[in-house]
Amino acid sequence: MTEETTSRTTCCVVGGGPAGMILGLLLARAGVEVTVLEKHGDFLRDFRGDTVHTSTLTLLDELGLWPRFDALPYRALTHARVRLDAGEVDFADLTRLDAPHPMVAMVPQWHLLDMLATAAEEEPTFTLRMNTEVTGTVRTGDRVTGVRLADRAEDGTLGPESELSADLVVACDGRDSRLRAESGLPLHRYDVPLDVEWFRVPRHEGDPDGGLGRMGRGRFMVLLDRGDYYQCALIIGKGTDARLRSGSIQVFRDFIEDMNPWMAGRLDAIADWDDVKLLEVSLDRLRRWSAPGLLCIGDAAHAMSPVGGVGINLAIQDAVAAGRVLAGPLRAGDAAAVATAASSVQRRRTFPTVVTQTLQDLAHRRVLAPLLSSDFTGQQDTEIPLPVRLIDRFPVLQWVPARLVGVGALPEHAPEFARRAPMPVPAG
Ligand SMILES: Cc1cc2nc3c(=O)[nH]c(=O)nc-3n(C[C@H](O)[C@H](O)[C@H](O)COP(=O)(O)OP(=O)(O)OC[C@H]3O[C@@H](n4cnc5c(N)ncnc54)[C@H](O)[C@@H]3O)c2cc1C
Repeated sequence: MTEETTSRTTCCVVGGGPAGMILGLLLARAGVEVTVLEKHGDFLRDFRGDTVHTSTLTLLDELGLWPRFDALPYRALTHARVRLDAGEVDFADLTRLDAPHPMVAMVPQWHLLDMLATAAEEEPTFTLRMNTEVTGTVRTGDRVTGVRLADRAEDGTLGPESELSADLVVACDGRDSRLRAESGLPLHRYDVPLDVEWFRVPRHEGDPDGGLGRMGRGRFMVLLDRGDYYQCALIIGKGTDARLRSGSIQVFRDFIEDMNPWMAGRLDAIADWDDVKLLEVSLDRLRRWSAPGLLCIGDAAHAMSPVGGVGINLAIQDAVAAGRVLAGPLRAGDAAAVATAASSVQRRRTFPTVVTQTLQDLAHRRVLAPLLSSDFTGQQDTEIPLPVRLIDRFPVLQWVPARLVGVGALPEHAPEFARRAPMPVPAG
């Protein structure tokens, strides 16, 4: 490696998802030189969740970004409903939350990430490098001192490698994190009995809006309203995708229509199996989130299941906690204080992570797995899960899922250095 191919930053953030972009913004606002590396050329990923939670909306207020968010094409979700064969149950009532924006805003995540990137790029110490894939870490002895990276073409081919050295590397590269795999940090994995089929169905005027769960006939699916289409997530038993896919696409369409007769006439939009993506669900957590020179946060530290739609919120809250404790030591160039701060992030964020993952694990094993028909016939009667029955009976309990989904177990607030007065929407 020649000297010309090595550059330097104070904090290298790998991955421009919700965790990486929030951390980059916070550190830049603290005056820390920060470089975010994102392997894709834009944020237009189809598989990103669409939810911006109540506590993230409060955070955007604190960061002065609410006017910009409010200009995005979001849909306000104040109630989550589950549609059963026997009727609808209101499952979560977010209006019961004591917060400035008591809702979950449904917005394609690329809008949120674009907005965060624009705000961060207003800070002189922030750099975002798109189309830049990190291929591994650089070490001096046991210590991570930087990353190896390469430009990535549209088709995924990589250019020549170079190095970026940094006082701290933060892995925000998601649940398949290359950095965490390479780090050898010990990992606890939960057994997950389900996967998700991910596809789109056109949405018409007058159709249900917001987020809707559909439970019945041995199946469970979630519909996310993206305006003129629904992003649909059909929960299937792990390992059953191949069997499903060995049938014709018409069998799959019939299967969805049988569950949702009101979708009749529009399921031809699922033209073939290429329109149905399998998303494998994983649930795991690092036992240690940091090593010398390296910190993992968000899904890179703890891959979240889609259950409850809370992974984005947890990733953002990790980033806020990390930004708060790391900004001072990074700015001061105090290596010992950076290491102490990095390891304190895990202490702070373990409690909400464990609470959320334990509930997701219980939901997988006790609620969803028993509900799923093993043979796709749809003939199996669906027993309404106990939590849904209880919430139907005692509506005041709707506060509980609202709090867990909207706010989480330990919401984080913007540190003083990152707060701004409401910022105008940039022209154009
Ligand atoms: C099917 C499914 C649906 C979900 N739906 C929801 C939902 O509706 N709401 C919700 O809150 N959560 C949802 N989740 C969970 C949520 O997606 C994650 O918890 C959340 O995205 C984690 O954010 P992150 O920033 O840690 O990682 P990610 O969002 O995964 O971002 C990681 C980023 O790193 C980049 N990257 C990866 N490797 C490299 C590399 N080597 N070099 C450079 N860049 C790299 C990626 O391109 C990506 O931009 C869902 C999960 C699944 C599986």
